[in-house]
Amino acid sequence: MSGARHRRSVWWPLLVTGALTGLNGVWVAAGLMVHWRHPVVGWVALPLTASLAGYACWQVARDGALDVSTRRFWRLLVGGCGLFVAGTVSNAVDAVGGAGPSQRVGPVTLLLYLGMLGVVLWALLRLPSWQRSRSDWIRFGLDTCMVLITVAAMVWHFSLREHQQWVAQTGSAGAMLSLAVVGFLSMATFVKVAFAGAGRLDRRALHILAVGSAISAAFGSLSPFLVTRPYLSSSLIAVPVAALSLHLAAVQQLRAGARPPAPRRRSRRISLIPYLAVVVTDALLLATGTSDPVETAIMEIAAVTLTFLVIVRQIIALRDNHRLLATVDAQLADLRGFQERLEYQATHDSLTTAANRALLERHVEQLLADNQLCHLVLLDVDDFKTVNDRLGHGVGDALLTLLSDRLTAVVGDLGLVARLGGDEFAVALCTDAAGVEILVDDVLAAIREPAELAGHTVVAATSIGVATSWVGDTPKELLRRADVAMYTAKAAGGDRRHWFDPAMDRAADESARLAADLRQALPAGQIFALYQPIVDLETGTTIGGEVLMRWRHPERGLVPPDVFIPLAEQNGCILELGTWVLQQACRQAAAWQHDHRDRAPSKVSINVSARQLAERDFVEHVAAVIRDTGVDASRLVLEVTETAVLTTDVAVERLHRLKSLGLRVALDDFGTGHSSLSLLLNCPVDVLKVDKSFVSGATADGAGAIITKNLVGFIEDFGIEAVAEGVETAEQADRLRRAGYRLAQGYLYGRPMSADDFERRFASTNAVVNT
Ligand code: C2E
Ligand code: CA
Ligand code: CA
Repeated sequence: MSGARHRRSVWWPLLVTGALTGLNGVWVAAGLMVHWRHPVVGWVALPLTASLAGYACWQVARDGALDVSTRRFWRLLVGGCGLFVAGTVSNAVDAVGGAGPSQRVGPVTLLLYLGMLGVVLWALLRLPSWQRSRSDWIRFGLDTCMVLITVAAMVWHFSLREHQQWVAQTGSAGAMLSLAVVGFLSMATFVKVAFAGAGRLDRRALHILAVGSAISAAFGSLSPFLVTRPYLSSSLIAVPVAALSLHLAAVQQLRAGARPPAPRRRSRRISLIPYLAVVVTDALLLATGTSDPVETAIMEIAAVTLTFLVIVRQIIALRDNHRLLATVDAQLADLRGFQERLEYQATHDSLTTAANRALLERHVEQLLADNQLCHLVLLDVDDFKTVNDRLGHGVGDALLTLLSDRLTAVVGDLGLVARLGGDEFAVALCTDAAGVEILVDDVLAAIREPAELAGHTVVAATSIGVATSWVGDTPKELLRRADVAMYTAKAAGGDRRHWFDPAMDRAADESARLAADLRQALPAGQIFALYQPIVDLETGTTIGGEVLMRWRHPERGLVPPDVFIPLAEQNGCILELGTWVLQQACRQAAAWQHDHRDRAPSKVSINVSARQLAERDFVEHVAAVIRDTGVDASRLVLEVTETAVLTTDVAVERLHRLKSLGLRVALDDFGTGHSSLSLLLNCPVDVLKVDKSFVSGATADGAGAIITKNLVGFIEDFGIEAVAEGVETAEQADRLRRAGYRLAQGYLYGRPMSADDFERRFASTNAVVNT
């Protein structure tokens, strides 16, 4: 049933309950003024209003929009109302069932009423917000005792002691006391839960219940005043008021519906109960006077007991606060530990636990700022790639860890050892040049020691470059010089050290400097990508483009990829560069795909170097870029060279996995390397890029022509597509077309161009062709 229907179905019973409560009020008021004989009138309303309250609670319990715990609360109240109805009937029987009207509350009535209040308390305690820690329970128990004592003292003072006659007549003092106490206790609990926040249970509904139970309990405890009117009973008012409040609360809950709970109050409210209790009891003690020693004794006992309870409660609260502080302290300590771990992770290499590049640079910066003479030693493991390829990355990682340990052992506390990435390490030293010389020789010797790794004996060697700091140096510049020195050591055959010499910068191998410069090229924004069209020979449509990397060197201008790509492969930069190109191309392809749909080039080719392909997580990396850029994988072609496939032992498996991502693989520069057609048989390629030397090179006319001609027919049988590279003239294009080629790439169709130019080109040519 929907919330609205629930709401409608509780409105009319609410009106009835309201009317009956009013009528009973009038009846009791009239009964105070006039003596009547007829006792039954007024009792009829009690089971009726209690039943209607139960009905309203049931409607809430059935409301599917509410959450489980709220519905359980209202279901328990339905049960409570059942006891309530039975209690009212029993109460009526007590009152009018005897020979004459009586105000006695019989044991059955008492049990039923107390049972009903017990169910209400139980329902409250089962709410999820009720924290059930031991000290919560103790505090709740103490508060309960305080309420109990205070209410009992009040009832005694204001009501019972004045009406010994009523007590003697009905013998219901105990019953009335306990009902009043539990009634007020319910009120206190309603208020407490309303403050604590009761999940999706409506807070206002709880307030209504609190007010209702307080009024009923107050009316109940005034029974003795009716001693001269035996045909009246405080139940005649207390019960309808309780029922009315239950009913109103139910209506309120239905109106509030499944509204998200109001945010819980942050501050722990100081409970007012202990203070109120002490104030009330002390006031009563003062008001009692000294005339009646029994009464004074009772009040004194109450006051002393209360004071004791308040002290206990405060001690517990203090202890809790201490414990809370201790917990917070512990949590803060944890947090600091966590921060330290984070800091450590941010400044250390995860594999070798040596410092990382960031920490090294920071350290050197500090030394330079303090005007300390500083030597930077740069080490690069010779032929590390071979270890990785032959023995696997596990052994490669173990070797790096071992070398890092040896390095740390030799350096000791003379300097800071850092792993810069890959197989490159650096040490920052503050000793004098002679000391550095000895230390570096020790390092070379330590690294040469044969190592037993996973059953293999590995003998490693390193090339070392050393640079000394100058006035006004920066860590980056110092690293660059060490890099140049290291590169000359490597070029001289490795397993040796070279000191940086300013002459090196001028005269030394140009590529050493270029390689060193290349490290900054990407962050300095000197790298960019161009696109060269791949066209359909028949239609002239641009069906795709190859991404080609460019490096604009600040002094040398454009450095050709044939020069810098091999350098990048040597010093490992190719991994960063390759990642950059891959992301760039995928992002671009996704944008074209989005902006131009059918007209967009259906293929974007990206060159992948051998070193990239050999990376352990290359396939996952490609998958992540595809995912992140949202490009359609079927629009991507990864170009690998024969050499990459032949020198990477896991290449075939890796190409299969790449293809399973939905992209295609091209074999680049076909015809230049080993050029075995057998490679095609076990290598999963979709495209063959026939090298330009067969098309426009020296061999293009003679043997080249024959090869190109026969090749295309051969590979098509394997379902492989051919792309002729380096097409420069119309005749070449003509010849290729006749030989059966469909796709070509070359200066005839377009030089590598910017992404914008490329976009304009396919947008115009493809539009012309398509129309
Ligand atoms: P490639 O993959 O064989 O790329 C084709 C090369 O042929 C490009 O040289 C292109 O400009 C050139 N070319 C295109 N049409 C003609 C023509 O009609 N005549 C002649 N003579 N040449 C033509 P580029 O851009 O200098 O690139 C050279 C090589 O550098 C590429 O050869 C590729 O192996 C490598 N490379 C370029 N960009 C990347 C890259 O992003 N990653 C990797 N790993 N290697 C790249
Ligand atoms: Ca290529
Ligand atoms: Ca090529």
